[in-house]
Amino acid sequence: MSIQVFGLPVSRGVAIGRAVLIASSRVDVAHYFVDGSQIEGEIERLRTARDLVAGELTVLQRDLPAEAPPELSALLDVHLMLLHDETLTGATKHWIRERHYNAEWALSAQLEVLARQFDEMEDEYLRERKADLEQVAERLLRALARGGGSALVPAAAQARDFGGEDPLVLVANDISPADMLQFKRSVFTGFVTDVGGKTSHTAIVARSMDIPAVVGAREASHLIRQDDWVIIDGDAGLVIVDPSPIVLEEYRFRQRQSELERARLNRLRHTPAVTLDGQPVQLMANIELPGDAPAALEAGAVGVGLFRTEFLFMNRTGDLPGEEEQFECYRTVVQSMKGLPVTIRTVDVGADKPLDRMSVQELRHEHALNPALGLRAIRWSLSEPSMFRQQLRAILRASAFGKVRLLLPMVAHLSEIRLTLEALARAKQQLADAGRPFVDVEVGAMIEVPAAALMLPTFLRYFDFVSIGTNDLIQYTLAIDRADEAVAHLYDPWHPAVLRLIAETIAQANAARKDVSVCGEMAGDPQFTELLLAMGLRSFSMHPAQIAAIKQRVLRADTRRHASVLQRVLAADDAETECRLAFQRSEQPAAVTI
Ligand code: PEP
Ligand code: MG
Repeated sequence: MSIQVFGLPVSRGVAIGRAVLIASSRVDVAHYFVDGSQIEGEIERLRTARDLVAGELTVLQRDLPAEAPPELSALLDVHLMLLHDETLTGATKHWIRERHYNAEWALSAQLEVLARQFDEMEDEYLRERKADLEQVAERLLRALARGGGSALVPAAAQARDFGGEDPLVLVANDISPADMLQFKRSVFTGFVTDVGGKTSHTAIVARSMDIPAVVGAREASHLIRQDDWVIIDGDAGLVIVDPSPIVLEEYRFRQRQSELERARLNRLRHTPAVTLDGQPVQLMANIELPGDAPAALEAGAVGVGLFRTEFLFMNRTGDLPGEEEQFECYRTVVQSMKGLPVTIRTVDVGADKPLDRMSVQELRHEHALNPALGLRAIRWSLSEPSMFRQQLRAILRASAFGKVRLLLPMVAHLSEIRLTLEALARAKQQLADAGRPFVDVEVGAMIEVPAAALMLPTFLRYFDFVSIGTNDLIQYTLAIDRADEAVAHLYDPWHPAVLRLIAETIAQANAARKDVSVCGEMAGDPQFTELLLAMGLRSFSMHPAQIAAIKQRVLRADTRRHASVLQRVLAADDAETECRLAFQRSEQPAAVTI
């Protein structure tokens, strides 16, 4: 019988495929595909880890004090037995061979299968053995981590050669932004997670991949089993497990319709974005990796409005990227954009974008109590001055190859501005001393906290441009964790306080003749296009796949009608309804009735 699960729609369209599950684990587990040549290496890692754990357990048992209760020794026997049981390590090899999972993923996938079998057991004693199994698996995962990853995490490895012909969708309790990045160019045609909010970074990466996704679907990863057929309705936030043939047919029809719509919109890609009354509007791209730049050009972006460089710092088994490596990445993007501006944001780690497991330990900022309010973004960079200067030098050096703009995340204090400008001056001096060419880049600030929006006239004295990060501005204005599905219903871009802060920021920047853009998710959401135009915004930055739909809105907009509408919307208790009435928008398609 089919099951329906509701969550938050975060990336539009319909995906139909077989489920690939990522099990949740108490140990931080990396998930990636290994290619054919790495399979034996992964199996060897697993074998080594098993031998290591067997050794540990044997020593533990040998050294038990004489007065220890006999159950303890018996328990260790059980653990040793489980460790050598084919259903754990043998079947784990199967996941590595057949699915090309890395050893940790394969082990946690098998653990999930076994845990479900234990849960269904009648016998209470046997049911309780699940905890032992989990402990053994946990020991194995830790041993795998100690033994090191399989060389570099193979970003290029993709699941092309497993799973037969069926399309695949990924189902997980949670997927870290780092894992999402691994899957960016892989075979998955959709995502479902139990947790997460609409602008969590996991959702943002899903959107950047332009594949249907639902987050905050709570029980999804428990209800869905490996290989189940799943429909992901990314418009309605609905997941249907094991659909009936009629429902499947209906959704296949919807899928074809949305592909046709996409192809139709795509024809706009080289049309300049100009409103009906002749106002030119810049539509730029948000990117995460250098490899995203060609897609930005292809989508008709007139520049990169936000390069989230922190993604270069993820999925690394050792060091963070140094100046040379970063410089090569930035130069690649600048050259790919063929003379169009590239806005490079300094690293914004922290909150829901933690650094990779190993690096983060070295850098000591692992377990902040409240990471969204903790050492993230510019605060983190200023606390790591040499790393910060390395990044600034790398960005400056890339400016010798095209138009580069430097963007600072989450600035809130004047002291942060001063320290940053000092670091920049020092980086420039170092480059000048070394005879390295660079250009005097424009410097901008993200407006992401209410304090920055309220201080704008002062901030504008220090910056050439500002970019409004609505994702964080909403989070910090409303005190709603953007990654927490439990409060996702309160995360409201239509909140009058949010709209007023955005409108004021745009108005003040325009009055000061400084460039202002929006690079948060509101920029790529067609519901807000007319309203942002009415506020005076003429520069939007979004995922490349969203550009065509926003351009269509721009082409149909007439800014002469906007002034009176803006006042009404800003004064309204229910801005969303007021805005819809004013601009007569058609709504998103409803879910198929089943
Ligand atoms: C934002 O906060 O709106 C933004 C664009 O930055 P990020 O989503 O990377 O935090
Ligand atoms: Mg932000």
